[in-house]
Amino acid sequence: MNIDNSARFGTKAIHAGQSPDPSTGAICTPIYQTSTFVQKSPGEIIGEYDYSRAANPTRTALEANLAALEGGKHGLIYSSGVAATGAVLHLLKSGDHVVLCDDVYGGTNRLFHKVFQQLGIEITLVDMTDHDAAKSAMRPNTKLVWIETPTNPTLKVIDIAVMAEIGKRAGAMVCVDNTFCSPYLQNPLALGADIVCHSLTKYIGGHSDAIGGALITSDDEIHKKLKFVQLSEGAVPGIQECFLFLRSTKTLHVRMDRHCENAEKVARHLEAHTKVEKVVYPGLTSHPQHAVAKKQMRGFGGMVTIYLKGGLGESRKMLETVKIFALAESLGGVESLIEHPGIMTHASVPADQRKKLGIADNLVRLSVGIEDVDDLIADLDRAIG
Ligand SMILES: *Cc1c(COP(=O)(O)O)cnc(C)c1O
Repeated sequence: MNIDNSARFGTKAIHAGQSPDPSTGAICTPIYQTSTFVQKSPGEIIGEYDYSRAANPTRTALEANLAALEGGKHGLIYSSGVAATGAVLHLLKSGDHVVLCDDVYGGTNRLFHKVFQQLGIEITLVDMTDHDAAKSAMRPNTKLVWIETPTNPTLKVIDIAVMAEIGKRAGAMVCVDNTFCSPYLQNPLALGADIVCHSLTKYIGGHSDAIGGALITSDDEIHKKLKFVQLSEGAVPGIQECFLFLRSTKTLHVRMDRHCENAEKVARHLEAHTKVEKVVYPGLTSHPQHAVAKKQMRGFGGMVTIYLKGGLGESRKMLETVKIFALAESLGGVESLIEHPGIMTHASVPADQRKKLGIADNLVRLSVGIEDVDDLIADLDRAIG
């Protein structure tokens, strides 16, 4: 790396973990599309690499880049965000207890409840904006506190510093899924978390063209265990994907600024719309945890959740009428997406839990892209009618 630790975000995004290729001067880290590495003599490797499941130079560059952006010591890259989540769960054993925030990504909820609960992991779902409820959910066998903030899709903002403190006092490891913010807007390690989890598929990748995940930690012990699980399970990404993510992190700060700016304009516009019942966006003063958001986020992100006046009929009409917003799951890409969590991303969440969380028929989730915001607003206005 040709920059030091004092470098700011935009400089790290472009340079951390990477330097021009010493043999050719190539400014971009090459795609080391190789599964194995030739050895000098048995057991005597030439550089640092022997087999690409264990490590690969393109992946190493991405790991160092993301670790620098999160202000962490170690990064590990996975084949998907859920693979990264699963790797953390593999640090636990049967009989261990997890406190999980009640409004997590649908796939995270499914992985905890449908896969790991069957292996003997105990789970308590908690509304982590209620600190008393979170404190009383802790047990002597609580080994992991899993936080996601802002939550999905109701965009509750959880106070990371307070929850990390509660988790640590109970002797648990604290992991924050930072996908919605990306390292540009929020750095959980600095707020007391032990591990940061990302779906690279979203803002970090940013172009809706690759699936990947990452874990970042500054704890040597945790990193060693995670590295062992990764080597043993093999949930590693392809090398081309690593290259795509490395290319994407170079523009992360520029894209995030525009996502935030556009989302805030969309949120303010819709808040004044007569056919919209409620807009949820952490940057609005009407947001119940606006103060927490201001304290721990450097910007309020690109996700906007709205409750339309009416029910499923009105939601359907909007989702079927938009032209620029694409009707699709996922989020965080340059193009704007719209979806219905009740039917799409959160269909795997049990109906009674959906109801409790407020994932209603009139709830529509927007991932505001970086198109011209006036075109986006006109598109939404036409669709809401
Ligand atoms: C998408 C997402 C995941 C899962 O990531 P994949 O890359 O799809 O496996 C986890 N957490 C959040 C918040 C997400 O949005």
